[in-house]
Amino acid sequence: STSEMARLEQSLSAWVDASRVYTSRGKVAAYIPELSKAPKDALGITILSSAGQSVSAGDSELKFTMQSISKVFTLILALMDNGEKAVFDKVGMEPTGDNFNSMLKLELVQPGIPFNPLINAGAITISSLIKGSGPAEKSARILEFFKRLAGNDRLSYDSDVYLSESETGDLNRSMAYLLKDHGVLEGKVDDVLDVYFRHCSIQADCADLSRMALVLSCNGTDPVTGESLIPRRFVQIAKTFMTTCGMYNASGEFAIQVGLPAKSGVSGGILALVPGRFGIGVVGPALNAKGNSCAGVRLLETISQEMDWSMF
Ligand code: GLN
Repeated sequence: STSEMARLEQSLSAWVDASRVYTSRGKVAAYIPELSKAPKDALGITILSSAGQSVSAGDSELKFTMQSISKVFTLILALMDNGEKAVFDKVGMEPTGDNFNSMLKLELVQPGIPFNPLINAGAITISSLIKGSGPAEKSARILEFFKRLAGNDRLSYDSDVYLSESETGDLNRSMAYLLKDHGVLEGKVDDVLDVYFRHCSIQADCADLSRMALVLSCNGTDPVTGESLIPRRFVQIAKTFMTTCGMYNASGEFAIQVGLPAKSGVSGGILALVPGRFGIGVVGPALNAKGNSCAGVRLLETISQEMDWSMF
């Protein structure tokens, strides 16, 4: 509403400043070497309303790679390409309680079937389900889809991050071979990983995330253009996964403290939404022990509590 926008315009910068001190409690991800170059004390946010008004604060123009945030949208594209049944024959619907790159349950509990599409094993499986003649065409379709959702034709890859991850991604590679051995992954392992590494390296800023989030918040229709981009049922599935698994093994705590569907990435981005009303993009590269943006989570807690935005 207009009064909520007025409140945000008045307070958002102060909330960012108050949360920024939390950047010093976290660490920038370094397991993908190129990510370690991100500014440690940065924090930025953009909030976009369904009326098309936006408010930004802090380092909202910082560019970062989408990393795990991209998994929400490749899941949606895989659902649009294959339907619900084919997708959920290969990946489950349950949170793991483990790290995003854990292989523990992949071996022990349901051999070969990833628990959900937002952990790495699940997202790699989803990459294999994207339609296209080969990895180049699949990746091009993903990028095209992301451009439409972000309303930004200039979206592209950060090729340094892409190369860095593809050179060092041995854990993901081993996961993919295990999935292939169990007959869950189809096609060549290297091709599937190429699609996965590429979509993780799509570069965005807070405004891009806020627009993509707003489309989810409005059940698949971009309220700015009126265009229907995603069937409502698939948005519902995506938002449910965001709520139960979107913040890795801190999703329960985030549901209690913030109470909004959200998805984080190791670059420090967080995409969140207030159903029917707002899309939110946050960046803060310093991460907490669970791999979520330290100051970003803190900022969302403040905003949700001040604005009374929890869904619960
Ligand atoms: N590209 C990253 C990886 O596969 C994505 C993980 C993340 O953002 N949590 O490790």
